[in-house]
Amino acid sequence: MAKIFCVANQKGGVGKTTTSVNLAASLAKQKQRVLLIDLDPQGNATMGSGIDKTQCENTLYEVLVDGVALAEARLKSMAGYDVLPANRELAGAEIELVNRAQRERQLGAAIAVVQAEYDFILIDCPPALSLLTLNGLCCANGVVIPMQCEYFALEGLSDLLDTIKRVHANLNRELQIIGLLRVMFDSRITLQHQVSDQLQQHFGDKVFNTIIPRNVRLAEAPSHGMPGIVFDPSSRGAKAYLQFGAEMIKRIRAK
Ligand code: ADP
Ligand code: MG
Repeated sequence: MAKIFCVANQKGGVGKTTTSVNLAASLAKQKQRVLLIDLDPQGNATMGSGIDKTQCENTLYEVLVDGVALAEARLKSMAGYDVLPANRELAGAEIELVNRAQRERQLGAAIAVVQAEYDFILIDCPPALSLLTLNGLCCANGVVIPMQCEYFALEGLSDLLDTIKRVHANLNRELQIIGLLRVMFDSRITLQHQVSDQLQQHFGDKVFNTIIPRNVRLAEAPSHGMPGIVFDPSSRGAKAYLQFGAEMIKRIRAK
């Protein structure tokens, strides 16, 4: 039965989507059966997996709003994992869901039907603590939080950590923080080392050992419709995400 993980951080541009697609590809490479769910109306995880978000017959919107089965909407990516695509339509799902009973459990209900077919289900969250994100957190076993080691990084985390605590207390007793992932790390910058040290003091072994470096190949990959791991497997970024996948597998098995 798949474990479900949200890749979340309410800040935009912190590496959620890059982490989602590359972790999906890394796990797939390590013989895991993976479904990546694009929970962001920007559809970046969809495009970054080589799927044209404007050409999908069904997307997460149809699954959440029209009751289309997830199995009817998912697609195969070239990188070896399945994708439940999204596009800008998904922004309208918030409004459609708001008056439903169990509005925060709609994604979980859709996932439950296919959960046994996978080892990992990853959810690429939008940059907001919205009803969509809440749907992700309500059905997840854990949260992976990518973050940059910058000056306000810790401060920005507190809202997310509060939300996770509240969801854990009221809606989903399963939910755990799996770990904080340091991304876009530039080892030449002293401040980044300082913030990284702070993070480790604060969060201890909740900080993943793997550090994802700033690497231009990871940034170039989406325009080729591929995760960096597939686009340039020999790049530093690809190697780091491959290692991160292995660390995830180890962490989950240890639980
Ligand atoms: P989010 O999903 O949190 O908004 P993205 O994953 O889209 O963030 O990343 C924001 C931008 O940073 C993108 O242009 C992406 O290509 C780039 N980026 C992400 N991770 C790295 C990295 N490790 N090295 C270089 N560029 C990166
Ligand atoms: Mg994103």
